[in-house]
Amino acid sequence: MRSVLKTLAAALATSFALAAPVQAQGVLNIYSARHYQTDEALYANFTKATGIRINRLDGKEDELVERIRNEAAASPADLLITVDASRLEVADKLGLFQPLQSKIIDERVPANLRTPNWAAFSTRARVIVYNKFVIKPDQVPTYESLANPELKGQVCVRSGGHPYNLSLGGAFIAHVGEAATEAWARGLVANFARPPRGGDTDQLKSVAAGECGVALANTYYVARLMRSTSAADQAVMAKLGVVWPNQATWGAHINVSGAGILKHAPNKAAAVKFLEYLASDEAQVYFADGNNEWPVVKTAAARNPALDKLGSFRPDALAVGDLAKNAALAQRVYDRAGWK
Ligand code: FE
Repeated sequence: MRSVLKTLAAALATSFALAAPVQAQGVLNIYSARHYQTDEALYANFTKATGIRINRLDGKEDELVERIRNEAAASPADLLITVDASRLEVADKLGLFQPLQSKIIDERVPANLRTPNWAAFSTRARVIVYNKFVIKPDQVPTYESLANPELKGQVCVRSGGHPYNLSLGGAFIAHVGEAATEAWARGLVANFARPPRGGDTDQLKSVAAGECGVALANTYYVARLMRSTSAADQAVMAKLGVVWPNQATWGAHINVSGAGILKHAPNKAAAVKFLEYLASDEAQVYFADGNNEWPVVKTAAARNPALDKLGSFRPDALAVGDLAKNAALAQRVYDRAGWK
């Protein structure tokens, strides 16, 4: 009899667990527009250390943001993880986040890499990549130099409307102002080898193929090619040189992967705990390395041979929150300049 009761109790417990909503205590719901294999280990380690189970919904940034808006107060999502400061800014401007209050985050994530409502957990730089057989590195020391008339027909770059270029434009505006940014964009457009198309990797391949002499790309795309075992990728890399831009002026433009706690998070405590965990030395190395990025926490020692090979550089010290705020203006500037 006792065993029958026990079985019944166990069955009831199981059915209760199955019927429980996903926002039950002990479950963290993450909407993520960032999905790399190595991130899996992170989630598993967090659950092991805290007992908090993670439900993850992977999707494209725009779809996730739309979903969070539609779900409104009924959203089960606690956290939004995504890439690029200007995208985090879009989510923030829509009022999707709540203030991120954590002493640990404030201590470990540098002030220029967080805002009151979201924080960065890894960084990438936007660099100039040139064909070693066509262009000399001293022709392209700065973003500004890509607008020099001597590079007519040499520049390949993805769409001006892409967040990576909007964030760069946001930094540009912060450093040199709107008018100078527009003049630069006009010069850049005048130098295009072809209308913008494809992603950063496509630009790198076009540079290697000789379709253009120089391009802009985020560092992890370069590192990905450097680490690739494919002969085709190695042939591409053999043609390419990398310049750290603006080392004598404002430094190389920096962007981020980051996260914010959602306004209607059912499990805010778990969300804070997870972000604090992401800021731990161990998680930092995993998180950053998953996409060949750099940790934001200084004590976290990255071990990435491709990034090491690219060498050290002077990053732009501008707050990512400030450049992100200029992204909408950058879009208008690019529109006027004809950077489609
Ligand atoms: Fe990317």
